[in-house]
Amino acid sequence: MPTAKKKKSSTAASPGKPGPSRFQAKAEELLLKRESAWTRKDASSHAEVFAFAEEYKAFLAAAKTERLAVDRLAALCRKHGFTEFSGKGKLAPGAKFYEVTRGKSILAGIVGKDPASLRLIGSHGDSPRLDLKPHPLYEDGAELALLRSHYYGGVKKYQWLNLPLAIHGVAHTKAGRRVEIHLGENEGDPVFIIPDLLPHLAQEQMKKEAARLVEGEELNVIVGHLPVPDPAVKDRIKLAVLIHLHERWGLCEEDLACAELELVPAGKPVDVGFDRAILGGYGQDDRVCAYTSFRALTALARPAHTAVAWVSDKEETGSSGNTGADSNFLERFARAYVAKVPGGLDPVEFLSRAKSISADVTSALDATFKGPYEASNTSVFGRGVTLQKYVGAGGKGGTNDAHAEYMHFLRDLAARSRIPWQTGEFGKVDHGGGGTISKFMARYGMDCVDAGPCVLGMHSPVELTSKSDVYQAYRFYRAFLES
Ligand SMILES: [Zn+2]
Repeated sequence: MPTAKKKKSSTAASPGKPGPSRFQAKAEELLLKRESAWTRKDASSHAEVFAFAEEYKAFLAAAKTERLAVDRLAALCRKHGFTEFSGKGKLAPGAKFYEVTRGKSILAGIVGKDPASLRLIGSHGDSPRLDLKPHPLYEDGAELALLRSHYYGGVKKYQWLNLPLAIHGVAHTKAGRRVEIHLGENEGDPVFIIPDLLPHLAQEQMKKEAARLVEGEELNVIVGHLPVPDPAVKDRIKLAVLIHLHERWGLCEEDLACAELELVPAGKPVDVGFDRAILGGYGQDDRVCAYTSFRALTALARPAHTAVAWVSDKEETGSSGNTGADSNFLERFARAYVAKVPGGLDPVEFLSRAKSISADVTSALDATFKGPYEASNTSVFGRGVTLQKYVGAGGKGGTNDAHAEYMHFLRDLAARSRIPWQTGEFGKVDHGGGGTISKFMARYGMDCVDAGPCVLGMHSPVELTSKSDVYQAYRFYRAFLES
């Protein structure tokens, strides 16, 4: 009988509240706690988390390309008193500097009380998108003008259909005038769309494998429909588009061959869910880490070690190129840095002794598509910043695998700073994987580990993050730079 039982147990216990059993105490001591940071008593207040998310959303709305992200981060640096690194003169402890490379990557730092010691956070500012082909514009008999595109990075191509796209980029007129094109983001702007085949006629298309459902050569974007009113002219709609490009930006068809024009999902980031606890937006991989690491850097006063945040480019296509992490950029920075600070440092030694973070996103456990995840080793929304010992694919191929000593250093830092953190792998063994820039940082000898928020719908037009994880990533990067 329930009532009698209750009475018996209460009389058996010592006066006052019964303490935990030996095994309950052991469970408390030994078992890993996996809980949502939203309800952790020692974690950040909801007000802090939501306020930070609003600032991040404003950044994400403006930073639709790698160039725009770098522009915004440079402006953030200037607002906090950072000056150009390439300027003449030496740098004393406390000096704040930044350097933009080709408009597509940015490094900023504060000289530490010990200028010989470096804390470095590297992220990337590029995101999957549709670039234009060199000869993009055509008209083909459907009374439409279109732009042919070449996708950039790992995308599921079908996700980019029937989606309002904005165009951003840089072009030069034949006379050498540089023009920036930004169209599709503002109220009243036109957008661009790749229409999918109607279901009524998609019988053959729907039999295809998903990877080939929409082919690369089918990512053609509608940009015009109105012909010039002269029947004697060939390709009258294409010409009308060219006339528009010429009148508005001074461009001709040849100029497009030398331009960098990117099509990205149009519109602003959004709150997701009744509780608004999730943030949805394009380009969070990896602008969430670019933003949070620069916010962490610019919040510092006088760090003990030289604190540097770096946003590289071209990560989504393998980090190649002179703005990518696989260039010798860090080496060149170190050489220039040691010449500006006291101590007669060796640049190679300076880099090799650094502690670093490759700040990048990882996959979050998907509530619906659970198949490719091993749930106990996957990051979960809201449980904090993810420290990922290794990434890679197929037997840890192509990864920097962080050492136990360094993982402990960072775990201990998170614990002392009361920052919720978690760890995991990308997904099940041999089910795919991914790479980051950590291997390009670690090759200089520095310790490096991947750390960032987990993401749902990664590389899709609307990537999702937990606002709590975004805030904890910011706090973790800040604690790291201050450590
Ligand atoms: Zn990334």
